[in-house]
Amino acid sequence: MEKFVVSARKYRPQTFDTVVGQSHITTTLKNAIKHEQLAHAFLFCGPRGVGKTTCARILAKTINCENQTKEGEACDKCSSCTSFNEGGSLNYFELDGASNNSVDDIRELVTQVRFVPQSGKYKVYVIDEVHMLSSSAFNAFLKTLEEPPPYAIFILATTEKHKILPTILSRCQIFDFKRITTNDTVEHLESICKKEK
Ligand SMILES: [Zn+2]
Repeated sequence: MEKFVVSARKYRPQTFDTVVGQSHITTTLKNAIKHEQLAHAFLFCGPRGVGKTTCARILAKTINCENQTKEGEACDKCSSCTSFNEGGSLNYFELDGASNNSVDDIRELVTQVRFVPQSGKYKVYVIDEVHMLSSSAFNAFLKTLEEPPPYAIFILATTEKHKILPTILSRCQIFDFKRITTNDTVEHLESICKKEK
């Protein structure tokens, strides 16, 4: 019998092209990867559930992929991609800013950043709900954000961009995620229905 996987997992986007409704962002990211002009810090802004963390994971997987495609996508097959898909990559760190917002949490992260990656090219640090960090935590983070080691990429995500300090905003490439439109949802559901017959 075929193993049953819930649809939300089965259809979770694994490449930029499968992200729904954010092509203005995924195209820019793919081009940056293709031309090796990747920023060191990104700020992903937008409402809940529009793909911020998904895009962060895809970006991390793609830049560590051993056989990137010409289009700037991950191959989804190499050992690095496999470890990302299984959630076991040592080059990917997610910090929830809502519950780990103290200066000690950030100091720990900053210490982590100093170690070069054991394998792969980049270590990617995602700080979700970054607006929840305390101001002393923000300050502890600022220096690392200003002068990150060459292998470190920071992706800050927030639902409340107006709460982010100007000193952070000015150091990040900012991406505004859009709400998913009804059309996008309908089209995507249609394609899933076809695949599932
Ligand atoms: Zn790969």
